[in-house]
Amino acid sequence: MPTNNRCTVTSCDDYAVCKGMCRKHYRAKRLYGDPEATKRPESPDHCCVDACEAPHFAKGRCHHHYMIEYRARKRRFKAENRELFYAEAAE
Ligand SMILES: [Zn+2]
Ligand SMILES: [Zn+2]
Repeated sequence: MPTNNRCTVTSCDDYAVCKGMCRKHYRAKRLYGDPEATKRPESPDHCCVDACEAPHFAKGRCHHHYMIEYRARKRRFKAENRELFYAEAAE
C-alpha cells in the first residue's frame, strides 16, 4: 500500500482512500457531485420545488411536496411488496 497517496483536491492533504480522494472529499463527490462541497448545503428556508414558495419542511421540500414524495415512496414500496407476494404465491 503506498503511503504517500494524497487526496487530489487542491489544499487537501488527507490520504486518498478512493478514486484519488480522501474519505471526506470522495463522500462529497458522491453526494453532491463536487468533491469541494465539503459541507452540507445550508438547510433551505423554502421548498426546492420550482415555483413553490412554501416554507421548508423536510428533505428540501415544503410539507405539501414532502408528502407527495412520501406517498409516492410508500406506493412504490407497496407495489414492490405485492410483486414479491405474487412471486411467492406463484411458486
Ligand atoms: Zn481531500
Ligand atoms: Zn413545495
